[in-house]
Amino acid sequence: MIALSHISKSFGRNQVLQDISLNVNTGEVVVILGPSGSGKTTLLRCVNYLEKPGSGQIAVGDFQVDCSRARRGDILQLRRKTAMVFQQYNLFRHKTALENVMEALLVVKKLPAAEARKRSIALLEKVGLGAKLNEYPSRLSGGQQQRVGIARALALEPEVILFDEPTSALDPELVGEVLEVIRGIAREGITMIVVTHEMGFARDVANRVVFMDGGVIVEEGTPDEVFQHPKEDRTKQFLRRIT
Ligand code: ATP
Repeated sequence: MIALSHISKSFGRNQVLQDISLNVNTGEVVVILGPSGSGKTTLLRCVNYLEKPGSGQIAVGDFQVDCSRARRGDILQLRRKTAMVFQQYNLFRHKTALENVMEALLVVKKLPAAEARKRSIALLEKVGLGAKLNEYPSRLSGGQQQRVGIARALALEPEVILFDEPTSALDPELVGEVLEVIRGIAREGITMIVVTHEMGFARDVANRVVFMDGGVIVEEGTPDEVFQHPKEDRTKQFLRRIT
């Protein structure tokens, strides 16, 4: 469960999030859509404090942080409950696929090496990379690198996974394989927020679609409500532009 209450965020004089409240239930997949610059990534990064909100409260599971007085310990605890999959994969270049996933288990979960190795292999097999365990990122395609990123996020056994435009750096022919892996995870009932421009994915996989523009949530609803029967003019305009 994620509960964001009255989150605001400015970069200098540019207010990019204005009093945003959003709840994501356990097991729910929420897709955030919106034009470039509407604040989607910033909102996602506020959930795990990669961006510090100016004000508001964040709750993940039973842990709540008041952003006006969050301490370092609070932020670490929040991060332990979340994992993020980044647009640019953010893998260690000098580590193999296996070592990239193991790192999370050794450093964050403090597992013994043999156990970390066993779990990492299982996770890489799960994302279809059982044959690439010992490859370095430079020898993997973008889609394969992103699947390592997803295995690494799963290794942390987070309460929620945050996907920040996970396919937007990929060549079009590699998008499908990554979306398929994310679909599989969604089916397992992991709570997730996905920022994406992939409308087909949003339609198929989201329990709820949130449309943002200008730092606010303009409209939210089921994929059918938002795509077939949008209420707000800004949503209608956006959908006309992209479909
Ligand atoms: P896109 O779809 O293009 O990724 P977005 O909806 O995710 O866009 P954000 O990346 O959240 O939008 O950016 C929202 C606004 O905040 C933009 O005006 C952007 O320039 C600004 N912004 C984002 N990060 C920073 C930063 N670190 N410093 C200053 N301004 C920033």
